[in-house]
Amino acid sequence: DFIQALQMPGIKDKMKREPELSEFEKKKLTIAETKKSLPIFPFRDDLIQAVREHQVLIIEGETGSGKTTQIPQYLHEAGFTENEKKIGCTQPRRVAAMSVAARVAQEMDVKLGNEVGYAIRFEDCTSERTVIKYMTDGTLHREFLSEPDLQSYSVMIIDEAHERTLHTDILFGLVKDIARFRPDLKLLISSATLDAQKFSEFFDEAPIFRIPGRRFPVDIYYTKAPEADYVDACVISVLQIHVTQPLGDVLVFLTGQDEIETCQELLQDRLRRLGSKVRELIILPVYANLPSDMQAKIFEATPRGARKVVLATNIAETSLTIDNIIYVIDPGFAKQNYFNSKTGMESLMVVPISKASANQRAGRAGRVAAGKCFRLYTAWSYKHELEENTVPEIQRINLGNAVLMLKALGINDLIHFDFLDPPPHETLVLALEQLYALGALNHHGELTRLGRRMAEFPVDPMMAKMLLAAEKYKCAEEIVSITAMLSVNGAIFYRPKDKIIHADTARKNFYHPGGDHLTLLNVYNQWRDTDYSLQWCYENFIQYRSMKRARDVREQLVGLMQRVEIEMVSSISETTDIRKAITAGYFYHIARLSKAGNYKTVKHNQTVTVHPNSSLFEELPRWVLYHELVFTSKEFMRQVIEIESKWLLEVAPHYYKPKELEDSTNKKLPKTVGRSERTD
Ligand code: ADP
Ligand code: MG
Repeated sequence: DFIQALQMPGIKDKMKREPELSEFEKKKLTIAETKKSLPIFPFRDDLIQAVREHQVLIIEGETGSGKTTQIPQYLHEAGFTENEKKIGCTQPRRVAAMSVAARVAQEMDVKLGNEVGYAIRFEDCTSERTVIKYMTDGTLHREFLSEPDLQSYSVMIIDEAHERTLHTDILFGLVKDIARFRPDLKLLISSATLDAQKFSEFFDEAPIFRIPGRRFPVDIYYTKAPEADYVDACVISVLQIHVTQPLGDVLVFLTGQDEIETCQELLQDRLRRLGSKVRELIILPVYANLPSDMQAKIFEATPRGARKVVLATNIAETSLTIDNIIYVIDPGFAKQNYFNSKTGMESLMVVPISKASANQRAGRAGRVAAGKCFRLYTAWSYKHELEENTVPEIQRINLGNAVLMLKALGINDLIHFDFLDPPPHETLVLALEQLYALGALNHHGELTRLGRRMAEFPVDPMMAKMLLAAEKYKCAEEIVSITAMLSVNGAIFYRPKDKIIHADTARKNFYHPGGDHLTLLNVYNQWRDTDYSLQWCYENFIQYRSMKRARDVREQLVGLMQRVEIEMVSSISETTDIRKAITAGYFYHIARLSKAGNYKTVKHNQTVTVHPNSSLFEELPRWVLYHELVFTSKEFMRQVIEIESKWLLEVAPHYYKPKELEDSTNKKLPKTVGRSERTD
């Protein structure tokens, strides 16, 4: 009956046909053959020549043409890494940096981390021998602090420039500047789409090197009516394709890990019920927090006769190319950070993608053969509702981090910084104000000693401030653990559909009355006390891999704490000091329970709600601090602790006035008054 559920033209008449092997499926290429088959290959020598002749080059070529994996190799072969210099290549996404580095190491037949390596936040997989280094744009941004002229590089490739992340946008200004006094540095700006002209103008009319794409036609199908539940619609579409369409792999775009896991479970469940009536379907997830051995699986060749379905976030839109995708399912959404400069509130939310994104997604189906893209929205909606282009991050997110970094680089006049597209004035001002309130800037807008120390940490200013406040409140051990756990946010507790009750009971055992940060600390400390046991994680519905990552991050943070000379001591009081240190960083994120029983943010009186997964969901203390806001059906505060209002005057006297914090009885309201219904 699922065949009926979506009315996609063209599916039903193919129903009776046996799945067959596509032409592509029949011939599997070796690595050397693959390299030669890439669209960029015939342009190898021209490209090297162009790099020799020009200092700055804009490279435009469709996704999958070989820009990211091949260009650094070509330049290495052409001698650009002689004189002990490296070729750097930035990626907006962590997963892409890791996976591409792994691929190139394999192509060059070297061990990852030797000649070819990568560096991402909290993880450096390079060595003295490294000549090709992939890194996130944020990591390069930080490298400017220790090496402002990028002296160790002969070539820097700013890749996936079209993604227009905040870090990439700021890098444009920084690299343009150093190119002036480092004539030997080659700069490549590589982009998948039509922005090449704009990049060229920004870089003083730099020449554009175009790699002609090879694209097969992609048929686009729309739904007749909007889908109420697009995850369910994805499941149905995958099964329809699997049952009715010739072999060829499927790529599904979802918005995040939760959704991907739900989709995976639903699919597995339905497949089990279909039993041996259908061919093998291999389901593979990809998202930012997925461990690298799992990521590698998506690139493994699909066994003959089977079909692979990759459930991905928009990582797979342009950053990663998975071969043999013939079918794309596009529900039309992505998760984005949105910053409201009027309220200073930043929130993660699921938003409709742009037309440009939708077209990129569809294009993924046409790389190796003619493909099909199933859009789970209407043609009308595509035409009339989607924006043309995604708004660059710099114009929609909090700039606190970027401003702190630029100040740390000695760039004081941000209004006149060379931006490709300048951020809104009020966002910039707000970032400056926020850094001032945190104590990172003085009233001349100059970096303070505290600000300088904050800039040492590759985290948001609020988090950096929290880490530094651990010195005063003598709880560095705990704050470092909490920070590490927050950085693997959302991926700690395992909640399989068929064991939800067990999983939730297990989770509740960790609950701390002070709130979620302390719950996370409980988890970490108990795990540590079992000597980091896998079995323990398994028994307690804790994700072992996430814990391992938290442990790695923690180790890095301890190193950074030592660098800023903070002693790693453990809190001896109950949790007050820990919560005060958190408040010293996050005093912007405070909400108060109103008489009506809902929470309002203190400064802007916005309504916010405790997330149902929070340990404080049934407690509802008078004053709470939240780590982040997530917008689904409403603004949910995720990771919440209880605080006392008088702490705010202690940690942020220049930001809060006693009057704002009046009626601070700190008493809990009777439970029945404030409980909000569970909507998530
Ligand atoms: P572009 O940067 O132009 O989008 P890439 O260099 O990323 O293109 O990809 C070129 C080809 O390299 C892909 O089509 C795929 O065959 C191969 N490739 C890239 N990454 C991997 C990987 N991690 N594993 C296997 N193959 C990969
Ligand atoms: Mg690429």
